[in-house]
Amino acid sequence: MRDRELYAKILGLSEPWMVVDVALHVAAKSVTVQLGRDDSSSLACPECGRSCPGYDTQPRRWRHLDTCQFQTILAADVPRCACPDHGVKQVKVPWAEPGSRFTALFERLAIDWMQEAGRSATARQLALSWSEADGIMQRAVDRGLARRPATVTPVLGVDEKSFQGREFVTVVCNLERGTVLHIADGRGSEALKSCYDAMTTEQRAAVEAVAMDMHQPYVLATQNAVPEATIVFDKFHIAKLAGEAVDQVRRAEAKKLADDGDDRLKGTRYSWLRNPLEEDLEQRRKFEPLRSSNLKTARAWAIKETLMDFFGYRQVKRASDFFRSWFGWASRSQLRPIVRLAHTLRSRLGTLLNYCQWPITNAASEALNSKIQWIKYTARGFRSREGFRRAIFFHCGDLDLYPQSF
Ligand SMILES: [Zn+2]
Repeated sequence: MRDRELYAKILGLSEPWMVVDVALHVAAKSVTVQLGRDDSSSLACPECGRSCPGYDTQPRRWRHLDTCQFQTILAADVPRCACPDHGVKQVKVPWAEPGSRFTALFERLAIDWMQEAGRSATARQLALSWSEADGIMQRAVDRGLARRPATVTPVLGVDEKSFQGREFVTVVCNLERGTVLHIADGRGSEALKSCYDAMTTEQRAAVEAVAMDMHQPYVLATQNAVPEATIVFDKFHIAKLAGEAVDQVRRAEAKKLADDGDDRLKGTRYSWLRNPLEEDLEQRRKFEPLRSSNLKTARAWAIKETLMDFFGYRQVKRASDFFRSWFGWASRSQLRPIVRLAHTLRSRLGTLLNYCQWPITNAASEALNSKIQWIKYTARGFRSREGFRRAIFFHCGDLDLYPQSF
């Protein structure tokens, strides 16, 4: 008798539901709490709430929070009612969402765990199968996306994320909050278009600036969908392109020097790629003579480092003058990768200058990137794009994931 009252209290049960029986299975380390319902109370259609006649009952079981390490199962014969408009429907129970085999409180616990530890570890810890844990995550994300209000976001970041090596998804994020807003398959124009299509007219009209890599499909999709928005090329992406140009110069020169028995460039790859502001004294002391040498690589490096000063200007005129003089230097450098870089950048100068007005970069979503890395790591690979998409929304969507609690 007493444990029935105790469970009724713990479960927060109210009329017409009550605890009928509590069965302890010591060997199996489990507790089954049998719930019953006052037959005289009326049944409500889950769709319209109308009071309807009973049809039949169906036995259902839900996993609940453990009781002192005893796996706890709620069991009940749940009535179905016959609604003239909606047909035969199972009535809602206050402790679980329709169709779930877990109580709302258990799902909350699993969601909390998964946010901290990922899916596999949670499944192990809570004795769930991988697909049960996955189902809880899936319902959480569906719920969160359905509840998400259509708020306006003036500054967006667009980026591609890889998984399984050569598979990509396009991720649109809120750069101010570092949260993921949309995810689409692939990294083409269509992918980004589908993200813009998912936004409301008001949301699209409110977009003022979009940060992205110099990736033409993204540029085109953005110009089409949000023509008023300013496109800003991510400066870290430009730095990466310039770094690659320096690396090409280094590789060719290192080979040539090595043929002549000069190994000055051997093992220096990362010294040229590293941000000089981040190097320590020892690194600087070692690298300085190389940097100020008359090697082609040193010249390419200086051109690259100077280029990055472009992003320090806030006045379009000054930035534009700076670029012109940099372009003159780079284009006459006779270093082929650098000349190519200079021409690529000049053809995009109009957009590059937008940075003066909108000094935004996708690095604002750096925290997001490391989180996505963590997701990939803890998931140990994704079976599908859909699984990857779901996990990103679960961890980075800032969604209201919990089931409705009672
Ligand atoms: Zn109905």
